[in-house]
Amino acid sequence: MKATASDGARTAAPGDGPDPLEARLKAYEGRPSAVAGRGKDPVNAPMIRHWCEAMGDTNPAYEGPDAIAPPAMLQAWTMGGLSGHTGRTEAYDELLALLDEAGCTSVVATDCEQEYLRPLRPGDEVTFDTVIETVSGRKTTKLGTGYFITTRTDVRVAGDLAGTHRFRVLKYAPARRKAPGKARARRPRPVVNRDNAGFWAGVAEHRLLIQRCTACGTLRHPWLPGCNACGCLDWDTVEASGEGSVYSYVVMHHPPFPAFEPPYAVGLIELAEGVRMVSNVVGVPYGKVRIGLPVRVEFLRYEDDEGALDLPVFRVVEGEG
Ligand code: ZN
Repeated sequence: MKATASDGARTAAPGDGPDPLEARLKAYEGRPSAVAGRGKDPVNAPMIRHWCEAMGDTNPAYEGPDAIAPPAMLQAWTMGGLSGHTGRTEAYDELLALLDEAGCTSVVATDCEQEYLRPLRPGDEVTFDTVIETVSGRKTTKLGTGYFITTRTDVRVAGDLAGTHRFRVLKYAPARRKAPGKARARRPRPVVNRDNAGFWAGVAEHRLLIQRCTACGTLRHPWLPGCNACGCLDWDTVEASGEGSVYSYVVMHHPPFPAFEPPYAVGLIELAEGVRMVSNVVGVPYGKVRIGLPVRVEFLRYEDDEGALDLPVFRVVEGEG
């Protein structure tokens, strides 16, 4: 592989610069980030076995007296573990610090390319050198605006190149979210499908319908195509009385979701008929929701620019909570 990403990179001419940072970043291209690093362990059968088990790779080439290491383990032999890499220079950390200062405080690994020149075998002692191969111009992605940094690690055994590992990250300034507040976020719509359409049709009529297996009579919720108890596909419905109690609950503080104002209580409600459903508990402050609290269904109408949406919620029965 001869071509590198830098072949296609634009040469920054003096005065060209809407982005003065780019030239400073480009100065790191070609600088080593690890020199004469050494693998912490020789290539060895136990690490190969663990890797194959984790990957579910049962290729017989990786077992027995003539075993080779899976080629994709290339990087594993160079990893520093908790105690860190050997041979590491400061160039890469400097480059990241420069980007941090410029507001590119987030990082995401984007891709990795490997090239294999000879197999590694148990007993091989690995050495490696890593270079900052390219730093891209400023790019805007869905995540935000930043720079792609590609490092190349050449892995050697007894001086012979065994493989090359290229690793690319995007170091970026996270895109700003739209300012909240102006247009109220729309409340997420239920996903209505063939299996649950009857439930939502009931909600539209302000009826809480529970599925019932016509073969064994078992009630079920959420709606499913078949009976968990006997496997029968035939069913009808019974209308719930709407009485129930809080079986369990959480109070949502974080993360915030548009259309929901934290903190709020989400309850797992056990209906009088015995099935359970997830819904909001209303009528008491979120801090007053308790297991066992009696509740009754109520259909709340939410209006937003998408139109009206009726949803079943559970109100704490008067005098409780
Ligand atoms: Zn059944």
